[in-house]
Amino acid sequence: MRLVFLGPPGSGKSTQAASLAARWRIPSLSTGDLLRDAMAKGRLETIASQSDLGKQAQAQMDAGELVPDQLMVDLMRESFGAPATQHGWILDGFPRNLAQSQALDTLLQIMGQPYGQVVYFDVPENKLVDRMLKRGRQNDSEDLIRQRLQVYNEQTVPLIDFYRRRQCLVEIDGSLSPQEITDAISSVIKPLAIV
Ligand code: AMP
Repeated sequence: MRLVFLGPPGSGKSTQAASLAARWRIPSLSTGDLLRDAMAKGRLETIASQSDLGKQAQAQMDAGELVPDQLMVDLMRESFGAPATQHGWILDGFPRNLAQSQALDTLLQIMGQPYGQVVYFDVPENKLVDRMLKRGRQNDSEDLIRQRLQVYNEQTVPLIDFYRRRQCLVEIDGSLSPQEITDAISSVIKPLAIV
């Protein structure tokens, strides 16, 4: 099972990715977590094919901007190389723009791994800001939240149409309760995504 979870920050996609990945016994590749983990261990500059990309990343994350595509592709290439990912995965946070979705196609083509479906979490913007303020992650000021939503609207939203045209997009009402969302995804995905 190979799935891409797509949705705005605060849409609950990470929670769903983690719980469904545990249920289906496949890894959930959360790019935010992978970046934070590599940074904490001082590994980012080793992963990045150009070390200055790794150096800029912290500031870009703190500002709610996307880190460079090349860095993300380097990180994903490394993640897909891990034995645990050979039988499936859920991507949580990648791709986040059209260049990354094209890079993902290329990476998967090289590995001979197709993805099954893209699950899109649709949540109205006012609900997102509320949820994120309540979640209260460190540095989640309202300004930063709005900045991250703006980046999402400008760069990530075009992917919805991109995957819809490919006819692999499954839309989920992300304003439902976590349990209802889990049930909705399980009922749509199970019969289709066994790859
Ligand atoms: P997240 O935990 O998914 O909200 O990601 C936290 C931050 O990591 C984002 O605000 C970006 O700065 C960075 N990030 C995560 N995934 C990507 C990506 N696919 N492309 C660029 N930057 C990313």
